[in-house]
Amino acid sequence: MNLKGKVALITGGGTGIGREIGLSFAREGAGVVVNYSRSEKEANATAQEIRDLGVPSSAIKADVSQDAQVRAMADKVMEECGRLDILVNCAGTTTFVKMGDLEGLTEEMWDRTLAVNLKGTFFCCRAAVPAMKSSGGGNIINISSIAGPTGIGSSIAYCASKAGVICMTKSLARVLAPEIQVNTIAPGFVDTRWTADWPEFKAMHEEATPMKRVAQPADIAEAALFLVRSDFVTGQVITVDGGKSM
Ligand code: NAD
Repeated sequence: MNLKGKVALITGGGTGIGREIGLSFAREGAGVVVNYSRSEKEANATAQEIRDLGVPSSAIKADVSQDAQVRAMADKVMEECGRLDILVNCAGTTTFVKMGDLEGLTEEMWDRTLAVNLKGTFFCCRAAVPAMKSSGGGNIINISSIAGPTGIGSSIAYCASKAGVICMTKSLARVLAPEIQVNTIAPGFVDTRWTADWPEFKAMHEEATPMKRVAQPADIAEAALFLVRSDFVTGQVITVDGGKSM
């Protein structure tokens, strides 16, 4: 896909990885809709940065775990932009619970983690499909994590949610082809506000990673650019972790 004149919706797009992906698409000429649920200030600032690059951008509030809000967001994108070509599901949440602390992982934590990371990703894909088909096709990228395939991460629920995203990506890629491609990026440790509170953890990852550093959001945006430019890759997981999980 040539990104010039295309429209991308990025959930959780005001901060971290989503923000960087939005900026990288904008530099290629795509308009970008920045979704947020609570990070309104950051989403508006990102939309302004994108407009400063000379392409249209706005911020839309929707909690991705709420189907009605997600459907309303897709309608608003079509009203405002007249098309939808790319969806990046970057919105995510977690609660840090040591993997061995089974009692510490409450039902509420399970429900919230799966509602945002897994169900929310599905809701956004589903709502985007009619808009993408009426735009002549589309490209969906779901942000998973190496926590999915490895089972190591901020909680057992988080790992399961990200494994679910990988599985769901393959199911959706089959049923939505050939009009819509669906792929996953599985990052390792990425330097964002998500990981900012654990400098020791970052140092540990740098040491244990063959590439001897953790990822910057731009490393993930590079993979996203590859996927949206491709007209053939679908149902795949691209791991961007400096070799940590091999
Ligand atoms: P981040 O906190 O900057 O991004 C998460 C975004 O999701 C935020 O903008 C937040 O406001 C938004 N969000 C949370 N709940 C939402 C909801 N219900 N509806 C809409 N938006 C919601 O952190 P990040 O590191 O950029 O994380 C982005 C994605 O990358 C997440 O899905 C995360 O699981 C994944 N990831 C991060 C890392 C890492 O090390 N940082 C590693 C692997 C995967």
